[in-house]
Amino acid sequence: MTETLHALPASVRGVFDTVQSRNPHEPEFQQAVHEVLDSIAPVLDSHPQFVEAGIVERLVEPERQIMFRVPWVDDAGSLQVNRGYRVQFSSVLGPYKGGLRFHPSVNLSIIKFLGFEQIFKNALTGQGIGGGKGGSDFDPHGKSDAEVMRFCQSFMNELYRHLGEHTDVPAGDIGVGGREIGYLFGQYRKITNRHESGMFTGKGVQWGGAEVRTEATGYGAVFFAQDMLAVHGESFDGKRVAVSGSGNVAIYAIEKSYQLGATPVTASDSSGYVHDENGIDLALLRRIKEVERGRISAYVAERPNATFVEGATPWEVPVDIALPSATQNELDEHDAYRLIAGGVRAVAEGANMPSTPGAVAMFQEAGVLFGPGKAANAGGVATSALEMSQNAARQRWSFDDSEARLRTIMQNVHDSAFAAAEKYGRPGDYVLGANAAGFERVAHAMLAQGII
Ligand code: NDP
Repeated sequence: MTETLHALPASVRGVFDTVQSRNPHEPEFQQAVHEVLDSIAPVLDSHPQFVEAGIVERLVEPERQIMFRVPWVDDAGSLQVNRGYRVQFSSVLGPYKGGLRFHPSVNLSIIKFLGFEQIFKNALTGQGIGGGKGGSDFDPHGKSDAEVMRFCQSFMNELYRHLGEHTDVPAGDIGVGGREIGYLFGQYRKITNRHESGMFTGKGVQWGGAEVRTEATGYGAVFFAQDMLAVHGESFDGKRVAVSGSGNVAIYAIEKSYQLGATPVTASDSSGYVHDENGIDLALLRRIKEVERGRISAYVAERPNATFVEGATPWEVPVDIALPSATQNELDEHDAYRLIAGGVRAVAEGANMPSTPGAVAMFQEAGVLFGPGKAANAGGVATSALEMSQNAARQRWSFDDSEARLRTIMQNVHDSAFAAAEKYGRPGDYVLGANAAGFERVAHAMLAQGII
């Protein structure tokens, strides 16, 4: 991200200066803090008690950060060493909750940006969950199942002592799906001698997992876009949709878009994107990505009318709705320009912070409905909290029941963000609305619980 962050309102500038000087090599973390501070300046103006109690100064500092060595042996018998992270940001609303990311780009800045955002996202869901995030610079691509298992076991050999159903409850994220969660949970069970279902979410449905957890983030992002459009009397029906990524979030965003009568025409991975004007063949995409764990370019071999564009993102394809669902800063000002020129009406972020600050500003100025990840992708963690409830009660809800609960939660997330934007004088600004609504809930809880 090469864009310069704009100047903040005077009331929050001092905090941001401290964040920058204390975390000098953490651009993603600074970017995430900048966005929240920009939004909550009006909240602080109307709540002097938050300022006196130093709520913001405390929130930008994680409660605890854990970094650790993860040694493992590859199939050739060579020793490998990765770095593990868990940043426990805030437990004021409940146990730390947030996923684990395994990707070579992972560093402390990325884990902190994700953990910081998670505080407000989780608050916005209305559930009793705090904010945290973790992961490693380990790359599961191209590794055998046995290598992934040995890595996960070594990772958990350290992390287990920081987890627990009332302490910290991880889940998946980039590079951490059902296979990895199985190995991680298994090692936790072995070390602790406890089958503690509620200490991990995203588990297999046969051993404590919840229906709809796999689908929840992608479905939820579509529901959020549906709610934004509904305010203006519009719907998904007949619309063309661009989706980036081809992982967990992207696949289920595509599935739900079809169910609502739209045509998703793109999918991508880190090598490029495919454009299929007839609509993405979801069964084929799932086979390539979930079964064969292959590259997206394989798609065009079986769909000759589709095109693969190497090294590019899908934002050059004219669409009505865009659902960025791959990674942070994957959609910049140039991409926003092309989407706006192509007539985009709504953008809902399935990924975390996929749009750069300049791109967000362009969408808002052009009147494009923009749902930030903090609100639009909250369905994943919200369904994780439902999984925790089912584990605690030793119950299992049906798919339809779980999806209906997800739908209600996403409507509430939308309405909270919408109402907060109106309250602070910026109707339709879901960035401000999501940050302000999440922050208010966290700040009141921090006030009540004292200076700790
Ligand atoms: P997956 O690992 O299942 O899929 C990630 C997808 O994004 C893959 O297609 C991957 O391609 C692509 N991708 C990853 N890094 C890059 C990159 N640097 N450039 C281009 N493409 C990239 O992850 P998820 O679908 O779970 O997560 C996607 C996003 O959604 C992340 O931002 C995550 O934080 C966010 N999210 C996920 C939630 C969940 O429940 N899973 C909940 C809330 C947010 P490749 O295989 O080539 O790397």
